Amino acid sequence: MSGIRERGRLQFEVAGVFDPLVGALNGRSWLLIEGAKISKVGARPQPGVEVNRKYAQAYAVPGLIDCHVHLSFDPSVNNPVDALERSTAAEVADVVRRMARLALLAGVTTVRDLGDPHYLVSELRRELLRVPAPTIVSSGPPITTANGHCHFFGGAVTPSGDHLQRAVAERAKRGVDVVKVMINGGILTPGSNPGKMQFSRAALAEIASAAKSDGLPIAAHAYTSEGISAAIQMGASTIEHCSFVTHDEYLWDWEAIVSAAQSPCYISPTLVDRPGVRQDPSRLSWRKSMVQHLYHNGAKLVAGTDSGVLRGLGPDSLPWALLAMHDAGIPSLECIAAGTIRAAEACGLSGTKGLIAAGYDADLVLVEKDPARNLGTLVKPLAVVARGKLYDPEG
Ligand SMILES: [Zn+2]
Repeated sequence: MSGIRERGRLQFEVAGVFDPLVGALNGRSWLLIEGAKISKVGARPQPGVEVNRKYAQAYAVPGLIDCHVHLSFDPSVNNPVDALERSTAAEVADVVRRMARLALLAGVTTVRDLGDPHYLVSELRRELLRVPAPTIVSSGPPITTANGHCHFFGGAVTPSGDHLQRAVAERAKRGVDVVKVMINGGILTPGSNPGKMQFSRAALAEIASAAKSDGLPIAAHAYTSEGISAAIQMGASTIEHCSFVTHDEYLWDWEAIVSAAQSPCYISPTLVDRPGVRQDPSRLSWRKSMVQHLYHNGAKLVAGTDSGVLRGLGPDSLPWALLAMHDAGIPSLECIAAGTIRAAEACGLSGTKGLIAAGYDADLVLVEKDPARNLGTLVKPLAVVARGKLYDPEG
């Protein structure tokens, strides 16, 4: 996309504004954007400000928020871990820049990066504010064990002495927004067992207390009943995956499903079904039914893609995550909330992101159809506005 306009005053006329807070579409509206913020959403234009009528038949949706990405993984390769390990820091930085642009132009105006090598994403954040890129919330390297899940990001810690406190303190010093903890092993890492616990409850309590004193929320990676229960006990803000499935084991545990759904944690099931991305069909259908069970038991679901872990799964995949949730039986309004307003809450961005309203950041997607009736319209945005700048493929 080209057609980047300088920040200033922009006024758009649109056919409707989707409000995920009430789950409804408002009628014909005029959006006034000043600088990086929305200053007015009205039923009449603001006099004295030129009106852009190009999108008068389009619908405005809050900019999408992906709660779980890895901008440093290149989704064009078969083995992202191997590619990462063989790349120089400069090459990985180029991947991050490319992925950030790809996400933004797909309407993903905010991402939460939950694992990058040696704080690279955090370091690039300032630079990425000046180019087509989403707003980035990041964790830096996940806290893991020696040779544990995603150890290649540089976050392996021996859980003894004051190592865990120091690991959290280092993240706070680096300015991360969230602490990512690998409670279970993972599928992506050779030699790691997703069915096993990586940390004791005592170690997780130490991490939780250090994070609390630094004012940092926790994103907990967990697959198993024990891992998910430990995530709830440590007061994690979000549970990543929460899939009750490991390499090939399907772990039916009704009590644990209900307690995860009714916990205060946001559940980020990282469920995506994108054409061209190969996944085991039985595993995928298990995960869809798990999302349905979680939803029906009251889970606060948020959307995340875990971008980069599968070939073809770029950070432009969030609309496919919303469609997969919908396919799992979640109403479309709920799916949109999971990728906007509720995702903003889960990422600590309540009041600035996830809603088209005065005072919020000017992050929005302009789409052809009413998204509540045609969720698929989000796959191909007509244009994207991020922090007050318009990106339109037609210029
Ligand atoms: Zn991940």
